[in-house]
Amino acid sequence: MSDTTHAGLTIEITPGVAIPAHLVGEVQSKLAYVDERIRAAEVAPSGDRITLQVQAEEDTPQLQAELDEKVQRVIDTMVKGAFKPKIQVLEDHLQRPTPYNQDPMQELVARGEVSQEATGMFSLGPLVTRLIDYFEDQFLGLADAFDANPYRFPTLIPAKYLERVNYFSAFPHSLSFVTHLREDLDVIDEFAQHAACDQHGLNTPPDSFAQVQALLSPAVCYHLYFSLADQPLPNGRLAATAVGSCFRYEAINLASLERLWNFTMREVIFVGPKDYVLKNRENARQHMSQVLEETGLAYRVESANDPFFIGEFRKQAAFQSAFQLKFEIRARLPFEDSTLAVGSYNYHQDFFGRHLNISLPDGSPAHTGCVAFGLERIAFAFLAQYGLDVRDWPASVREAVHG
Ligand code: ATP
Ligand code: ZN
Ligand code: MG
Repeated sequence: MSDTTHAGLTIEITPGVAIPAHLVGEVQSKLAYVDERIRAAEVAPSGDRITLQVQAEEDTPQLQAELDEKVQRVIDTMVKGAFKPKIQVLEDHLQRPTPYNQDPMQELVARGEVSQEATGMFSLGPLVTRLIDYFEDQFLGLADAFDANPYRFPTLIPAKYLERVNYFSAFPHSLSFVTHLREDLDVIDEFAQHAACDQHGLNTPPDSFAQVQALLSPAVCYHLYFSLADQPLPNGRLAATAVGSCFRYEAINLASLERLWNFTMREVIFVGPKDYVLKNRENARQHMSQVLEETGLAYRVESANDPFFIGEFRKQAAFQSAFQLKFEIRARLPFEDSTLAVGSYNYHQDFFGRHLNISLPDGSPAHTGCVAFGLERIAFAFLAQYGLDVRDWPASVREAVHG
């Protein structure tokens, strides 16, 4: 079934198997990567209907068949045989009263506090920057509580490193590749004279670019593990902290400050024996519980899984759930009655220790875990709950931001 609108075509697809409620969001987020012609995708909450907005000249049986086949493939791979994970709630402060219930984006833009360079790329003004600095102070306080050593990491990450930790099969869809012009006088001259942008981007022929050796880093803690690879872990344990730019291409899911292509993550990272990592992850959660209470944020901490791509999703999500590997801090967004992950508590077991050959004094592979915060997101969630008028903010935040 379809009809034509001025924005393109609307195509409805009936899933071969109904999508259970707990997978509706996961499937919907993956539809962004199914076909370049899809401009918007929505899975009905009941899971038995998918509506696609498609950029195409005319509706043809072939277009329908192609989209139907790809969408059914996603559903089959993600849904068939999936079991419902038991969501574990570690803290629930979702109903903490907060004064604001608008989408703060419009006012942020009007005040010059947020300006969009392109989809998923934003500049932030003084108020938002000071608010992020306030949260950064809290995260540095968390790091201090563990005597975590500070590190700085590059924004680029070598392709061969990501390959070594199976990143390409787990998260291929959100990778951002880096290249440069080939070291060739003709290629560089040609580019200098003819490079121009049309509505699709640069007009440069793909063979002008060198083969990809580096990507934009999708996370911070990987860099620490790479620096520890192929050697015994000095002292047998390590607490570290770093902040860095991270990149995840989230296609049509990129939306306001909620979901960026280019964002900033602060991590506190633990490497050592299993008990050490698990105990510190739990201590970090308890420390943050106090901090978040002071900031007044309304949130819940609950079990979650990483956004694995379609082929890896079902197995890996079940694995993470069964072993309680990931918990998210989900802040309330009152204006859309939803929640948004502003941070996560992660335990990787000995995955990085094994793949990168990081060994403990007894020769066994090190375990790792990290606590990761999205700086733009936590500021956005706070503003969605408290608005832009600092007089409405909790005293500790107001004083820190406004003196
Ligand atoms: P989500 O569930 O929203 O896709 P995630 O589970 O992929 O996030 P993590 O890998 O746990 O996120 O990353 C740690 C934190 O980094 C998240 O809790 C979030 O605050 C932030 N983050 C992740 N992806 C983005 C993004 N695309 N834009 C802005 N912040 C992000
Ligand atoms: Zn991490
Ligand atoms: Mg998540």
